Amino acid sequence: MNESDARAELGAVAGSLRLRLQDAHRAGLAAVNLPRAPASRPQPAPAGPPAPVEPPRAERRAAEAVKEELRVAADQRLFQGGFDFGAPDLKDGATREEALARIASEVAACERCPELLANRTLTVPGQGSVRARLVFIGEGPGEEEDRQGLAFVGRAGVLLTKMIESIGMTRDQVFIANIVKCRPPGNRNPSPAEAANCRPYLMRQLEILRPKVIVALGSVATRNLLETHEGISRLRGRFYPYHGAQLMPTFHPAYVLRNYTPDTRRKVYEDLLMVKAELERT
Ligand code: URA
Repeated sequence: MNESDARAELGAVAGSLRLRLQDAHRAGLAAVNLPRAPASRPQPAPAGPPAPVEPPRAERRAAEAVKEELRVAADQRLFQGGFDFGAPDLKDGATREEALARIASEVAACERCPELLANRTLTVPGQGSVRARLVFIGEGPGEEEDRQGLAFVGRAGVLLTKMIESIGMTRDQVFIANIVKCRPPGNRNPSPAEAANCRPYLMRQLEILRPKVIVALGSVATRNLLETHEGISRLRGRFYPYHGAQLMPTFHPAYVLRNYTPDTRRKVYEDLLMVKAELERT
């Protein structure tokens, strides 16, 4: 869902919430406080206000139940399909470790993309802390990742490690994954169909981890996650709300290695400092 859809959805939910509260109010649930638009100027105090009448306990409970029901409905509609809303993989009482391991074994058996299946050595589900508040997402495994079954362990991975350390963190505190979990032959970009086939695995991982911040590494990751055709240079440097997390697009470490200029490195560092600040904010 894009930002304006989300706003429209929020407006609709707020409208329906108000109607339901009005109904409840009319039905005699006096404890429901109807939301009011803020007064443009202070209202004069009414002369001799009647003493507040405490509603009976049953009415108060009913009013609270209506409010809670509407709050849950609003959450569900806002975050439908997003990883804020439930994590099916944890529903059976599995730990995060178990739930992530289950996804990894499904990925290892996955046959959704014939060309990737025919060429892969190992699948690369992603790895890191199951308590990660920060998740990095690249585009897809390269040669070394395909050999080891681990994300970002080649040359780009060495730079990614330095990027993580530049904000005072270590690799084992974060989670690292990719848009696709099998190496595209010749390191080509994953096709839209391959990205779509792999998306449920990534979304389930994010639902389990519920990170506070996601860093999308490069244009392939950013475009797939934000569902945009905009270029990385225009998108980087600011946060985008993403299913309850904050998503920061930045340059891919492989791009930084190819364009190792002070300007590129400064931009990546600035993006990472914003990530650090966001993590420290709460
Ligand atoms: N590039 C990526 O996008 N992902 C990796 O895991 C390695 C290199």
